[in-house]
Amino acid sequence: MKTIEAYIRDIQDFPKPGIVFKDLTPLLNNPEATALCLDALLAQIGDKPVDKVVGMEARGFFFGTLLAQKLNAGFIPVRKPGKLPSKTISETYALEYGTDVLEIHEDAIKAGDRVLIHDDVLATGGTAEAVCKLVERLGGEIVQCNFIMQLDFLNGKDRLEPHVVRSVLRY
Ligand code: AMP
Repeated sequence: MKTIEAYIRDIQDFPKPGIVFKDLTPLLNNPEATALCLDALLAQIGDKPVDKVVGMEARGFFFGTLLAQKLNAGFIPVRKPGKLPSKTISETYALEYGTDVLEIHEDAIKAGDRVLIHDDVLATGGTAEAVCKLVERLGGEIVQCNFIMQLDFLNGKDRLEPHVVRSVLRY
């Protein structure tokens, strides 16, 4: 059995020059590797109680739903504008050039819900920071920000302080 890392494929210059894209589709394409990765993500949560898992569009959905199922928690998608059908709240966040917006259903979280935030990659932390704000605006208590991969050289973890950040693989 190979390690989880062996199933992550580096794609040079995607989606633009200078970016090394961490592609997890080979991992998703292998059931044993997917099970290993899910176990590693669960191990970093330990026995902390979780009521809801929030996953970011789109690659946070893959393991977000699996994690929610294993934790006996609800899954909540955070999506790009105009995708969620019911009433939403939104957060605008800065990109390298310009801004982006993320939305969540306003009735998805109740005040006091213990929320795990999950995505595939933590890079600059802008996306996860916006999601933390959405969750906190709805009264959720963030248990942990939980990732498969963390790009240490971009210092995204600092941006998420004081929240607990855990990642299975660090680069
Ligand atoms: P950031 O907001 O900079 O932390 O970027 C995180 C979001 O962008 C996540 O939803 C990731 O899926 C995606 N992302 C950023 N950098 C990479 C990368 N090198 N490889 C794959 N996905 C990335």
